[in-house]
Amino acid sequence: MNAPHAPALEYPFPTPPAPGTTLTVAPGVEWLRMPLPFALDHVNLWRLSTAHSRVLVDTGYGDAPTRALWDALLAGAPAPTGVICTHYHPDHAGNAAWLATRFGVPVRMTLGEWLTAQRFHAASVDGLAALFAAHGLAPAHVAALVERGNRYRSAVPEVPATFMRIIDGDDIEAAGTRWRVLVGHGHSPEHAALHAAESGLLIAGDMLLPRISTNVSISAAEPDGDPLARFLASLDALEALPAGTLVLPSHGLPFRGAALRVAALRAHHAARLAELADHVRAMHGPVAAADVLGVLFKRTLDLQQQYFAMGEAIAHLNYLWHRGALHRHVDAEGQIRFTSAA
Ligand SMILES: [Zn+2]
Repeated sequence: MNAPHAPALEYPFPTPPAPGTTLTVAPGVEWLRMPLPFALDHVNLWRLSTAHSRVLVDTGYGDAPTRALWDALLAGAPAPTGVICTHYHPDHAGNAAWLATRFGVPVRMTLGEWLTAQRFHAASVDGLAALFAAHGLAPAHVAALVERGNRYRSAVPEVPATFMRIIDGDDIEAAGTRWRVLVGHGHSPEHAALHAAESGLLIAGDMLLPRISTNVSISAAEPDGDPLARFLASLDALEALPAGTLVLPSHGLPFRGAALRVAALRAHHAARLAELADHVRAMHGPVAAADVLGVLFKRTLDLQQQYFAMGEAIAHLNYLWHRGALHRHVDAEGQIRFTSAA
């Protein structure tokens, strides 16, 4: 993830709530922050309340520090009446089953996200390791990925056994207003953002972040896929939101200026794709995804960041391949390489 700046965005709430506290950003809409054990050290969650209902949107990483904060926050408070997960990632779904079971309430998610949570909870990392090996990742780093094992299961100890399905275009009543489910792709299979048109609010999940570009990675389940095209297409609906919409992102600060931010993201990806195509052309020979990490990420990457970077690099190369700018070759050993079509 990189950090293209967008100075024209407005940040009406410059100070985030302290962990375990809430900050009201609109009538009935509270902002909560939970810690994350990574360089990206926080995730934003939302509680949508009326006198009769309290819906939690996203639930934080499924570890002891976040659960202790939930315990403190919910002690003596009226119980949640529902949980919505924007997508299956651990910082969003980590406590969904735990909270839902504890309060006897349903978890609303899209089918794509629920199935993917089940799959990641059950699956080994062998498929991803094999894909990264085919794309040239050093054997020691592939071995480290296998050695590390299933990290999803440690961050999402339980996945919801049952769920209430939401689909694109559904309306959900919460915080005294109507939220339209806005499904987007490319960051996760079927990510649900929530748009309250009357209130001028968008709970964006990870689809629109003010400072960092959303991670768009290849999935081992769909190695030939084109998640970057899906992501860029999903930005159309966010770009078209009314100008005053307050965007409530999962990371960073609430902001106004969705269309500006979308324009910056489009420019960011266009520049990266052009650089990547130029680099492959200049190499005059087959290039692996592992060879282009330095083109896309101009800083030292730790092991975890290298795995993210591999996923992003393959997504960008596949985008160029699907548009005929690159040729893709698979040799007898299954090694995948790209050459310029120019
Ligand atoms: Zn995510």
